Amino acid sequence: MVCRWCGSRKVAKNGKKSDGRQTYLCKECGRRMVERPKYKRMREEDLKMAVKMKDEGMSYSAIARVLGYGATTIRTHIQKKTLKMR
Ligand SMILES: [Zn+2]
Repeated sequence: MVCRWCGSRKVAKNGKKSDGRQTYLCKECGRRMVERPKYKRMREEDLKMAVKMKDEGMSYSAIARVLGYGATTIRTHIQKKTLKMR
């Protein structure tokens, strides 16, 4: 892990965001970074599951927690999927 602002390697983990992404604090420049979402793509069966869960009234963040994706990833994929179906 290298600081994206100053290139320093003195980067420490700094807790997690509410969506589960790891944040880092650079000890050199004091700026914070958030790791990139781990999953840009979703497996088809996870997406089907996610759509079903949304239909049953679960929130995007709850689905994200259960399936282990970022909430933004879940929302983007579900919206794309449901647009296609309608
Ligand atoms: Zn830095």
